[in-house]
Amino acid sequence: MKRAYNFNAGPASLPESVLKKAEQEWLNYKGTGMNVMEMSHRSKPYEEIHQQAQNLLRKLLQIPDNYEVLFLQGGASLQFTMVPMNLMEEGKKGQYVLTGAWSEKALKEAKKIGHAEAIATGKDNQYREIPSVSSLKTLEDGAYLHITSNNTIFGTQWHETPKVSIPLVADMSSDILCRPIDVASYGLIYAGAQKNLGPSGVTVVIVRKDLLERSKDSLPTMLDYRTHAKNDSLYNTPPTMAIYLLKLVLEWADSLGGTAALEKINKEKAALLYNVIDDSDGFYKGHAEASSRSLMNVTFTLKNQELTEAFLAEAKERGFTGLNGHRSVGGCRASIYNAVPLEHVEVLAQFMKEFKSR
Ligand SMILES: *Cc1c(COP(=O)(O)O)cnc(C)c1O
Repeated sequence: MKRAYNFNAGPASLPESVLKKAEQEWLNYKGTGMNVMEMSHRSKPYEEIHQQAQNLLRKLLQIPDNYEVLFLQGGASLQFTMVPMNLMEEGKKGQYVLTGAWSEKALKEAKKIGHAEAIATGKDNQYREIPSVSSLKTLEDGAYLHITSNNTIFGTQWHETPKVSIPLVADMSSDILCRPIDVASYGLIYAGAQKNLGPSGVTVVIVRKDLLERSKDSLPTMLDYRTHAKNDSLYNTPPTMAIYLLKLVLEWADSLGGTAALEKINKEKAALLYNVIDDSDGFYKGHAEASSRSLMNVTFTLKNQELTEAFLAEAKERGFTGLNGHRSVGGCRASIYNAVPLEHVEVLAQFMKEFKSR
């Protein structure tokens, strides 16, 4: 069977070797006679998977010891709520940089919890650009600064980490593990797994331990980071299958050489598509300003709506999936996460050139 040319934005492509490994272990995980889904989350084989997933993430992102690694549920969307619930401080504001729809949603939730404000926004320019780091004015009354490292819908990405005196919080749902990062620059990082880490159902939270002191005892138990930190993310039943697949994806990433190797391939993949756009004499128009372009989501339109539709219809016939832009912006989007093979991006670049010449 031929694998699809899968450019879905999320849930998205998974490495074929990971799916094969899961298939091999499907009926009998390491001699247990069980699928991982059928095991107790307190059993030895599961605990090992849980630990390995944590250890691999620590290794791949070089997470310092003063950070907790948590596996939560509720998606990145629940983190829009949990971040302000846990990190807001009396008399201070959550500060947000708006770079797209997801950061707008994060701010909206924070306002329900406490005081929060946008300190910069790219909305007036249709979110084509990430605000320059030097222009960010974090105020004295900031409890934390929240950014969205990669804007899945608009196809922009931060290429410089803001250096601020208050804890930096980043939604890395669509670009975690696409390149090396300096975890120590952040107070908290969160990411739903279904773009670059595995299947939906698990959300990774990396939080500096001293920030846990901000959580108040009045918080609902499940929404308090301390509950999950104290119990090694085993306070209640974790999404065992999703964490197992996360572990397999992390093993795969490690075997390729980790984040530096992944970044190299990701740059190569992204350049293939951006070069076609830039060399097309305006036939394809990129949405993002060149300096803010994402390595993960390549957004573009064609000269007019008619051509855009013809392109998408023909792409579908050729076996490409997921190239429609997000329903809120239209146009086209190729999501080229870690697991999307270079060869598939080459086939897409070739198709784009060929469609243009015809
Ligand atoms: C997909 C996405 C989300 C939403 O994730 P859920 O897990 O569906 O809640 C949030 N932020 C970013 C940047 C995303 O790409």
